[in-house]
Amino acid sequence: MDVLNLKLQDFSGMSFDCDCGMKHSLEIEQIVYGQEITQDIIQAAHQYSAGGKILTVCDQHTYKAFGKNVQEAFLNAGLDSSVYLFTSMHNLLPDNRQIGKLLIEIPNDISLMVAVGSGVINDITRLVSYKMKIPYMVVCTAPSMDGYASATSSLIIDSTKNTITGHLPKAILADENVLHKAPGHMIKAGFGDVIGKLTALVDWDLGVIVLHEQKCPVIVSMVNQAVEKCIKNAQGVRNNDKQVVANVFEALTIAGVTMGLNKNTRPASGAEHHLAHYWDLKAIEQNKEHALHGESVGIGTVVICRLYELAKKVLPQGIQCPSPGYITELLQKAGAMVSPTQIGVTRQDFEDSLVHGH
Ligand SMILES: [Zn+2]
Ligand SMILES: [Zn+2]
Repeated sequence: MDVLNLKLQDFSGMSFDCDCGMKHSLEIEQIVYGQEITQDIIQAAHQYSAGGKILTVCDQHTYKAFGKNVQEAFLNAGLDSSVYLFTSMHNLLPDNRQIGKLLIEIPNDISLMVAVGSGVINDITRLVSYKMKIPYMVVCTAPSMDGYASATSSLIIDSTKNTITGHLPKAILADENVLHKAPGHMIKAGFGDVIGKLTALVDWDLGVIVLHEQKCPVIVSMVNQAVEKCIKNAQGVRNNDKQVVANVFEALTIAGVTMGLNKNTRPASGAEHHLAHYWDLKAIEQNKEHALHGESVGIGTVVICRLYELAKKVLPQGIQCPSPGYITELLQKAGAMVSPTQIGVTRQDFEDSLVHGH
């Protein structure tokens, strides 16, 4: 199978015996990206609800962005759907409070949950549907992070960030026009998460040498190819260029897909993600709002490249990391942030993150 030339939608349900010796397979049944995808959304909801009740989960922003349209389309198509709207005035957090609220209020005869949103809505809906033992699908509203195609949720439980087991969405659907209209800072964050793959792959190389891990060249090529497309036109991130937004969404989805194919997070997450998670944790502990995942990851990538540069003399042969200057330049081209101070990380927390953020 020539996986490097597949379209995003062709990844759904894929399964192949790879030259690396592994059988790679992905349990997401549908990935849809394009214009005018309302019929696809209706069809998927119809299929996975099997005629039962649907709960469409949104917050105020995502309801306006696309949730209202999705709900109207469901009702017009005769589907039995209601909306659960998170009404938090501040940024919605995926914490005990919001998860508990949804679990208390969700009717117990729901057959399918439909998340309309990005990171937080997807993480909460994934967990609640998993606990309810019902399927869920996600309608994406921003290309801001790589968690759509993941089986775990990043949740804040008792003021600490945890990775909690859930399940994969049955379908991931994204309307090109909706993503294109996503807030600029979310697209920049998505670009930052994409750039993080560069250090994730270097970490994987190190894992092969130091820990004798297995690495799949096909998966590495899939990630590299998707990242390369985004890098080529980093400038376009600044003005929500349609093709660039499509490339960023594709790269983020492929990142998620490759983690599924490889059955671990190596292809898309390394030390840059550990730093990002540490900074998030510190902000939560201090009751401060933390940066978007991709913003922290982009900045974390600059820091990790600098660490690789400092460690150059002691690194095993064959480990090649981009220079911090190159990553900084890419992020700046895209209008994204490059320094921990820009997201409120203190000097002390920064130093601690280098020691403990792993
Ligand atoms: Zn990420
Ligand atoms: Zn392989």
